[in-house]
Amino acid sequence: MYTYLPLAKRVLAKIEAIVREEMDAAGACELLVPHLVPIELYRGTKRDEEYGDLLFRLTDRHGRDAALGPTHEEIITELLKGSVTSYKQLPQNVYQIQTKFRDEFRPRAGLLRGREFIMKDAYSFHLETDGDAGLDTTYAAMYAAYVNIFTRCGLDFSVVEAESGPIGGSASHEFMVNCETGEDTILVCPESGYAANVEKCETGERAFSFAQPATAELTKHHTPKMPGIEGVAEHLGTTPAGMLKTIVMQPSEAQECGPRWVLAVVRGDHDVNEGKVRDAVGFAVELGDEKAAKEAGFAIGYVSPRAADSVEGCVVVIDPDATEAEGGSWATGSDTADHHDTGFCWARDFGIGLPAAGTVGPDKRVAGDSVKVADIRNAEAGDPSPRSAGVKLEARRGIEVGHIFKLGTKYSDAFDFSVLDKEQKKRAVIMGCYGIGVSRAMAACVEMSCDDNGIVWPVGIAPYHAIISLVKPEDEASLAACETIAAELSSKGVDVLIDDRKERPGVKFKDADLIGIPVRVVIGPKTLEKGGAEVKGRTEEGFGEVVEIAGVAGRVVGVLGG
Ligand code: ATP
Ligand code: MG
Repeated sequence: MYTYLPLAKRVLAKIEAIVREEMDAAGACELLVPHLVPIELYRGTKRDEEYGDLLFRLTDRHGRDAALGPTHEEIITELLKGSVTSYKQLPQNVYQIQTKFRDEFRPRAGLLRGREFIMKDAYSFHLETDGDAGLDTTYAAMYAAYVNIFTRCGLDFSVVEAESGPIGGSASHEFMVNCETGEDTILVCPESGYAANVEKCETGERAFSFAQPATAELTKHHTPKMPGIEGVAEHLGTTPAGMLKTIVMQPSEAQECGPRWVLAVVRGDHDVNEGKVRDAVGFAVELGDEKAAKEAGFAIGYVSPRAADSVEGCVVVIDPDATEAEGGSWATGSDTADHHDTGFCWARDFGIGLPAAGTVGPDKRVAGDSVKVADIRNAEAGDPSPRSAGVKLEARRGIEVGHIFKLGTKYSDAFDFSVLDKEQKKRAVIMGCYGIGVSRAMAACVEMSCDDNGIVWPVGIAPYHAIISLVKPEDEASLAACETIAAELSSKGVDVLIDDRKERPGVKFKDADLIGIPVRVVIGPKTLEKGGAEVKGRTEEGFGEVVEIAGVAGRVVGVLGG
């Protein structure tokens, strides 16, 4: 639990003011909903299960269950449903700045991932996707507002394409503060500027072929209770990159016809990406239920692509890097518990028709019909860029401070929120949602903008713009000069902090640097003797230049950037 002390509270207020101005300018309206949300609302969207322990639950004196809101789609949808019945009332875009609570399993880095934090969350409601009143227009306006907000906050940030959940498409962007200590990895193409998070990032064209001839016997090995793929690989005399990883998945929603199982095959050192598998097969997928998968005949933990030969209703999707083996053949699970095979060769050992050699990439996502080849793994640094041929993706670290999202009808369907259109037909309302981590943005700014002496606040959100350090606070002449300068600065809209503590000058200078005030003005008998006060920017070395008292305010404004 954290308390925002006075300086931090001022920074928060400044960030919030910027957020309000930009949201209002973009046509959104501020409201405030309760922190405490009746649990039924989360049950309606199954988010009580999805969030699990992240939801902080409580029960009131009457035995009614509720949760502290981790985000407020449900309650806002419920609210709008109660008052919006006609297309004529759309679009709507409402936002709030409020404390959120998530019982994070691992809160870390102070305010970067707190359990209690301040978020700006906005929700928009539309009849259409296209057109002036449509979701796409509001989404673009929110995107632009976010760029303004983070620019005005002085943050060095990247906008990245993000995974958007079941509705697919490029319908989600994250705003990431560029920072080495960030938790998230971003992949960027240095040539085109394309940037995406690891889950979303596409890869450029990659070749595949199943023509590699058999070079070794298929041999079964006993590999009981080996922890992790590395241990198994070592035991088999190979590396994870020499193994195939076969993940058993199933459609998220039961289908009447179509496949029951999806086998996603990637190289052992790669990670299967659920969203990409969904795009390759054309329906949403999730990790296969272990009990059902075992009953169907999968040796979970030891599955190979060949399981598709014996288990009915499988579709196999293979990543291009899992087709030709670098060492000539693959090690795989052997479809019996506690065993692995070496010497696996697609052409010889896989019984189902394989597609002819080719490439998959941004223009051609999937090859093959019953057995598919597609980009189904998380991208990594060094992968080909999806936007510029011959260029490799690079990894950077970042802190997510904002996230905008085209929700579609997920919440309106769950709440049966529809309106009558022009033809008096009922239509589900289309939604978008837009979040900013206000307290996280403050913390991210400190991570991004500091030096050995402390914080370096960008002017836009600094708690005070200038600090006047009085070397001898009891000196009448110094006090008079201080008052003159402070009054003039205030009249120019500069927030001034006066350090008149009875401390040594060195202590005052250290503290001024530590709390990161952008400009320091030093007044003392010696500076007055030299004709004025010293003015210094936070990152300038030394003592700064002596400026005559009448010119100090003008100089300070100059250092602040006008
Ligand atoms: P993360 O992936 O970091 O857990 P999230 O994607 O779950 O965040 P969203 O639901 O997108 O978060 O919430 C909107 C914004 O709220 C995020 O972009 C982030 O800036 C902020 N935020 C989320 N969780 C926290 C937290 N525990 N502490 C501080 N800020 C947070
Ligand atoms: Mg997010």
